[in-house]
Formats: sequence, C-alpha cells, structure tokens
Amino acid sequence: MILAICYNCGEKKFGAFCRCPKCNVEPESEYDKATSLAITDHYLSVQLLEKTGTYIKEHGRTPEIPQEVRADMTESIRKSDAITQRLKDGLERTLGKNNNSE
Ligand SMILES: [Zn+2]
Repeated sequence: MILAICYNCGEKKFGAFCRCPKCNVEPESEYDKATSLAITDHYLSVQLLEKTGTYIKEHGRTPEIPQEVRADMTESIRKSDAITQRLKDGLERTLGKNNNSE
C-alpha cells in the first residue's frame, strides 16, 4: 500500500485518496487529490514525506507545489480513472454483471 501524508493535518496514512484516520479528511476535489497524490512515497522518499508532514503540522498548510507539477498530477489522476473504468468494463464483460455493480 502506498504511504501518504495527509494534506490537512500532516499525519501519515496509507493510500493517497483514503480518509485520514486522524483528522477524518478525505480528498474529494481534483485539487486536493492532486495534492494528496504528490505527497506519497510514489513520488517522494520517506524522509522527504516526513519533512513534509512536519511542515504541514507547523504551518497548517502544505508546502508550495509547483503549478505544472499539480497539472501533471491532475492529468495522471484523470488517466488513471479512465484506465480503471476501462478495466472495470472489461472485467464485467468477462465475469458477468450479476455481482454488485456500482
Ligand atoms: Zn489528516
């Protein structure tokens, strides 16, 4: 599972888009999801993640994420969502649609 830092409180959590077990915040907007994805061990070392968490706890906000990086993150999330949908459609064709489809 992916190690992430909560953009709201700076606590460690597992899964970029999961609800934070400490502050109960869950990223919903594309902006917050892009922020959340950026501060995971998919992109950053554990050491840098810990520093980022400390910064959030001290300043009450995330360190500045460059605009173009944020745009790339957003694109990556959109692509990933599209892949998920195609995968789901493909699996449903194979497995049948009788089980809980959302
Ligand atoms: Zn939190």
